[in-house]
Amino acid sequence: MFERAKRALAGGVSSQFRAMSAPHPMYYERALGSRVWDVDGNELLDFTLSQGPCILGHSHPELLKRVTAAIELGQLFAGQFEEEVLLAETLQRLIPSAQRIRFSSSGSEANHAALRLARYVTGKPKFIKFEGHYHGWFDNVAFGINPKREQLGVSEDPNTIAWGGGIPDELADQVVVLPWNDLTLVEEALSKHHSEIGAIITEPLMSNQGCIEPRPGYLQGLRALCDRFDVALIFDEIITGFRLDLGGAQTHFGVTPDLSVFGKALACGFPLSALVGKERFMSPLERNEVYHGGTLNANNASIAAALATVDILERDDAKAHRHLVEQGKELRDRLGTLGRDLEVPLLVQGPGPMFHVGFTARSEVTEYRDTLDYDTATYGKFVSYMLAQNVRLIGRGLWYISSAHTAEDVDLCLKAAEKALYTMIERQEVERVG
Ligand code: PLP
Repeated sequence: MFERAKRALAGGVSSQFRAMSAPHPMYYERALGSRVWDVDGNELLDFTLSQGPCILGHSHPELLKRVTAAIELGQLFAGQFEEEVLLAETLQRLIPSAQRIRFSSSGSEANHAALRLARYVTGKPKFIKFEGHYHGWFDNVAFGINPKREQLGVSEDPNTIAWGGGIPDELADQVVVLPWNDLTLVEEALSKHHSEIGAIITEPLMSNQGCIEPRPGYLQGLRALCDRFDVALIFDEIITGFRLDLGGAQTHFGVTPDLSVFGKALACGFPLSALVGKERFMSPLERNEVYHGGTLNANNASIAAALATVDILERDDAKAHRHLVEQGKELRDRLGTLGRDLEVPLLVQGPGPMFHVGFTARSEVTEYRDTLDYDTATYGKFVSYMLAQNVRLIGRGLWYISSAHTAEDVDLCLKAAEKALYTMIERQEVERVG
């Protein structure tokens, strides 16, 4: 299939991230619950969840039924409808910063709109983003995503490294890249350049690389600095949203940003993102002073999927959400214990609904520069051994759990991980510690 796909799809895929799965891009036929079936008929236990969105697992029957019923009435009005308003009202209820909402189709677009609004409202063109954070693939944020060690520069003044080719050099002048989780560096940058810096964009928990929790007081510190220097605080909640808490990381950590962006889990695999924010930052859209568009925005299927997703996650005292958090923590903790028992340098960290697994001698990873110590080749081997036992993982170490994962799935995965690690020890493919 890969050979055939390459002759039609550039690189055989529709996203660069899908090209990265070993031993080659994978091709699938169907998916249900915690499982996906590939074109060779293998049933895989899935911890990628389509890079995060499928928070209820795949093909949740109630969700599909509700989407099917919705699209029988139309697929895209390109005009407003009650369910769209209802979803916006639901987000207002759940998310502290959501005074006003706009829907788009992807996280990249919504982040684009957030930065445009922040620049307009503050009247300042530059923004701070952090090393290793990914806010989509658009030009203005495609800096400092995964620079190599030798490209980084000093922590106090890192180089602004573009994410591949085709990104205009002059855009780098608009971006101040800093290491994450160090408030002093942000304070220094703002003290010097606050007259030009209109926004700080950050994942509230650095999910994409290392699944790193903010240091105690870090987000509160960012909030205080933004207030002091009239800078918009933007939370990119594309991963944390609905996963960490139904009200996002802003509820979990108790810090309210000015603007924030939700996607992925919001519509459980249907294309939908939401830009939510405080009145001050969203009102330029109401006055037609800042533009935001998108032909497919708030399409009927995605809105119905999001309403169903939130409904299912919230009902019975958030039973489904509590279940996924519990399973995630259980799997995370037992993987950590397994690594320690087998005396391999396996570091497992993250909140539970998502977490990161990697091989490193470090006992903790607190920012992007630490993640460069991960032995990615060894993790690649682990992923291959897991795939050989029909467990599907993301190659860069991020694991996602859904409400469809059961205690049996967790046991099965741990058995596979144990076998994979034993094989690696036997073949001397992983170093022993201790
Ligand atoms: N922000 C974060 C934190 C992400 O992880 C992603 C995608 O992985 C995006 C933004 C971009 O979202 P999308 O792929 O929907 O454009």
